[in-house]
Amino acid sequence: MRYLNCLSAVRSECAEATGHRSVYLTFDDGPNPLCTPDVLDVLAEHRVPATFFVIGAYAADQPKLIRRMIAEGHEVANHTMNHPDLSRCEPAEVQHEILTASSVIGIACPQASVRHIRAPYGVWTEEALTTSARAGLAAVHWSVDPRDWSRPGVDAIVDTVLVSLRPGAIVLLHDGCPPDELGRDTDAGLRDQTLKALSHLIPALHDRGFAIRSLPQSH
Ligand SMILES: [Zn+2]
Repeated sequence: MRYLNCLSAVRSECAEATGHRSVYLTFDDGPNPLCTPDVLDVLAEHRVPATFFVIGAYAADQPKLIRRMIAEGHEVANHTMNHPDLSRCEPAEVQHEILTASSVIGIACPQASVRHIRAPYGVWTEEALTTSARAGLAAVHWSVDPRDWSRPGVDAIVDTVLVSLRPGAIVLLHDGCPPDELGRDTDAGLRDQTLKALSHLIPALHDRGFAIRSLPQSH
């Protein structure tokens, strides 16, 4: 369990230096041509930014969605090339997974500035942290996980976020699914609960005085 020792180096919430009640919405495992456009539509409707931790292989297939994220003011971040458990990868493979994902995002959208990385399954290793730091990528975890991928129900997703929330919270949501889970469910409706939860959650966060922001650059 060596990776657990690394967690202290990984940010799971943001310090509130400015005193604002900020929260950060993050979406993992996209871009997905069926789910991501709907998520982007909801974010656009409410004019809030998010950070998308994309899988490089999907970004290569869906460059238009990467460009749309950037054009609409979101941040695109690194979630590795193929979403492996990095603790099971050789060092060279870890480096390839991280560096290739950043370059694929850059090819899809040269305007994208990739500044953050989240390890698949939240499993960090020394090699992953070292490679990320050398590539100028800040490691980001999460502090609120409503397990939307398990489809617990729209109300459960919303309630879990609202009861766990505090200023600086980083909320983990999903706009796609990893390669090894594709096709396990019918793709239609894959993230319908996440989408509905999001459209309830954004106004609820605003009602509670939270500002929804992009992850800050400093770390
Ligand atoms: Zn993931």
